[in-house]
Amino acid sequence: MIYFFYDGATIAERAGRRAKLPSWPATPVEAPTHTHDLYTSERTRMNDLLEEAARRAAAYIAAVPARSVAPRPEDVSRLEELGGPLPEGPSDPTAVIRLLDDVGSPATVASTGGRYFGFVVGGTLPAALAASWLAGAWDQNVGFTVMSPVAAALEVIVLDWLRDVVGLPATCGAGFVTGATMANFSGLAAARSALLRRAGWNPEEQGLFGAPELTVVVGDEVHVSLLKALAMLGLGRSRVTRVPVDDQGRIRARDLPALDDRTIVCIQAGNVNTGAFDPATDICAAARDAGAWVHVDGAFGLWAAVAPQRRHLFNGFADADSWATDCHKWLNVPHDSGIAFVRDPEHLRQAMALSAAYLPASNVREPSNYTPEASRRARGVELWAALRSLGRSGLAAMIERDCQLATRFAQGLSRAGFQILNDVVLNQVLVSFGDAATTRRIIAEIQNDGTCWCGGTEWQGHTAMRISVSCHATTEDDIDRSLAAVIRVAQAATER
Ligand SMILES: *Cc1c(COP(=O)(O)O)cnc(C)c1O
Repeated sequence: MIYFFYDGATIAERAGRRAKLPSWPATPVEAPTHTHDLYTSERTRMNDLLEEAARRAAAYIAAVPARSVAPRPEDVSRLEELGGPLPEGPSDPTAVIRLLDDVGSPATVASTGGRYFGFVVGGTLPAALAASWLAGAWDQNVGFTVMSPVAAALEVIVLDWLRDVVGLPATCGAGFVTGATMANFSGLAAARSALLRRAGWNPEEQGLFGAPELTVVVGDEVHVSLLKALAMLGLGRSRVTRVPVDDQGRIRARDLPALDDRTIVCIQAGNVNTGAFDPATDICAAARDAGAWVHVDGAFGLWAAVAPQRRHLFNGFADADSWATDCHKWLNVPHDSGIAFVRDPEHLRQAMALSAAYLPASNVREPSNYTPEASRRARGVELWAALRSLGRSGLAAMIERDCQLATRFAQGLSRAGFQILNDVVLNQVLVSFGDAATTRRIIAEIQNDGTCWCGGTEWQGHTAMRISVSCHATTEDDIDRSLAAVIRVAQAATER
C-alpha cells in the first residue's frame, strides 16, 4: 500500500531516464505563454521575485543589530494592514512580498540578532538559512525515499554525524520532527510501545484500554512539554510519580521510587531554568538493573556533549534508551527542527510506522516510519548545512562560546549587586532584582528598552529573569551592551 505511487523503477533507472532530459538552464527562461498570468508578466518573473526576496532578507539581517529587539507597539499595530478581506483576484507576487516585508519585518522579534535572550530560542547560521531557501525551491516531501532521495539521504548523513559528535550509541535511530515537544512525544511513544509489547500487549493495534499499566517517573522540575507529550500519549500528565529535586532542579537519585520493567523514567539534560543536568549515571544504572526505560529531555542540554569543556555534564546520559533534542535552539537552524533518537530504531519504527503490515523490503530507511507525520518538509537539509559548515570544532566553539558569554553576563550582574539564583554551568542564567513585583516590573522595562530581550520565570518560589545565551551571533559586545542596559534599567527602577 505504501508504494501505490511508485512505478517500480529503481532510483538508478530513474536517474538514467532523467539524464536524457535537457539539463537545467543556466539562464532565466522566458515563461511559456500558456502558463498562468502571474508568470507571464515581465514584472513578476520568478527571477525578479526571488532576487527581491533575497535583497529584502539581506536588508532585514543587516538592520537587526541596530534595531530594538522587541518590535515597537506601533509596528505591531500595523499588522492589521496584512488582513482585511481576501482579495477577489490575484496580486503581483512581488507586491505581496513587498507588503509582507514592509509590514511584517518590523513586527518580528529580532531573535536572530545577538541580544535576544528569551526562552531558549537560538538564531540561524548563515549556511542553514541559505540552505533553507534552496530547500524551499526544492519543495521536497521527505515522507518516503522515493519522493526525495536527497532529503532522505541527508537525514541518514545527519543522524550519522550526530551520533558521533554527541556520543550516542552507534546503532540508534532517529525521527526528524518539529521540536523537542514532538521529540519527547516520539521517544516516549517508542518507550510505551517497547514496554507494553514486552508485557504482551501491542498498543499500536490494541490501544490503551485494558493495557497493563505503565508507571512514568519525572523530576519535580520536568518541562511542561514533556507532560504535554504524556498527555497526548494517553499516559496522563497527572498520573506521573514526581521525584524531589535539589536547588538546581536535579532529580535526587536516592529519592527515586522502586523501578521495574514497566516504568519509564524521564530525566533532563539541561533544566530550562538553571541548565542543570540530572544524575544520569546513577539513574541509568538503577533503570538498567530493573529493566526500566530512561528517556532524556535534552532540548538544548544535549548539545553540551559536543563541547569538550561541557562534555562532563552529559556523563551517563548516553546509557539512556531515548533522547529528545531541539535543533532550532542551540544548533541554530531555522524553525522548526527537533530530533528523537531511540537506542533501538525498531522501537521507534513500531510506534511510528504507517501500517503494521508494512515491513521494510530493503535496508532503505523510510523517513516517515520514524515520525508522527507522513508528509514532511526536508528538515535534514538545514541540519546538514549547519553541521557541514561548522564542522566538529565550529560546533563545539559555538556551544562553548555561548556558555562563556552566559557566565560573563552573570558575573556582570553579580558585580552590580544583583542576585544570581543558579549555578551557571551552561548557557542559562537566573537573576532576581528583589521581590516578585519589582523583578516583573524591571523585566517589562528591559523588554521596552529594546537593547536586549529577556523573559521572566518562576524558580522554586522566586520570580526571576531568565537569560538564555543560545544564538551563534552573540558577541562579547552584545553581552556588554545588554548588561549595561539591564543594570541601567534595574538601578533606575530600584531607586524610584
Ligand atoms: C524548549 C524545551 C522543550 C520544548 O521544545 P519545543 O521546541 O518548544 O517543542 C522541551 N524541553 C526543554 C528542556 C526545553 O527547553
